[in-house]
Amino acid sequence: MRLQDKVAIITGAGRGIGQATAVKFAREGAKVVVCDLSPEWIEETIELCKETRGDAFGYVADVRDPKSLEGMVDATLAKWGRVDVLVNNAGIVMDAQLKNMTEDQFDTVIDINLKGVYNCTKAVVNTMLAQQSGVILNASSIVGLYGNFGQTNYAAAKFGVIGMVKTWARELGRKGIRANAVCPGFIATSILGSIPERVLHALEEKVPMGRLGKPEEVANTFAFLASDEASYINGAVIEVSGGLVI
Ligand code: NAP
Repeated sequence: MRLQDKVAIITGAGRGIGQATAVKFAREGAKVVVCDLSPEWIEETIELCKETRGDAFGYVADVRDPKSLEGMVDATLAKWGRVDVLVNNAGIVMDAQLKNMTEDQFDTVIDINLKGVYNCTKAVVNTMLAQQSGVILNASSIVGLYGNFGQTNYAAAKFGVIGMVKTWARELGRKGIRANAVCPGFIATSILGSIPERVLHALEEKVPMGRLGKPEEVANTFAFLASDEASYINGAVIEVSGGLVI
């Protein structure tokens, strides 16, 4: 098992890519902290982790709230004594063309998708520095590489999390901490719920592999990057998009 006894905090792990990542990590032997907003989704993920005989506990925390994140890290340290991996996965969309985008749409997406990543990483970095080891993984997007129609706010955040990863790779690399970003293409989760069926179909047609990705395909990438097999991968930005370029 590639993540045997590693302690991993995964944000937005109640469903979608985060849930698939929690289950994959548990299957690989990790001890998983399932962070999400909703207790019901957290419970479902914990049950799935337990089916793999993995160890998991849940923590309701909003990535916008440093106090609740501090509580989550304290609870993790009290239970398992360390934090080996942070997967900054929580994210939302609030799409609109620039001319129609409201301040609330812009600010909310930045607060969760960009500042939330900063908040979570701040909450664990001193623990990782004291350990002289750790892995930080940010969920960016192909939108964070190429931009996308109707996603000024989301693109700004997803470009930003790549910038933070490259900065952390430089600041923390000598301290035994690696930081990398994963850029999913279009993955079949509820986040695509607002995209009309015909647009989704057109997107599928644009993917050289002719289909949307599965959450498990992104989870596998996070698991590899979290493992010691990726011991010399730092500051990397890895696309998991079936070859799609928007
Ligand atoms: P999803 O199915 O909507 O899951 C997102 C999760 O994040 C949900 O469980 C949600 O909780 C949680 N969350 C939202 N706001 C939060 C907050 N403030 N604090 C803590 N948790 C919060 O989305 P997904 O498709 O799995 O996306 C996961 C990540 O991959 C996101 O960062 C997304 O931008 C990125 N991504 C996705 C795709 C794609 O096509 N699916 C493509 C590129 C990048 P609730 O359900 O309780 O609200």
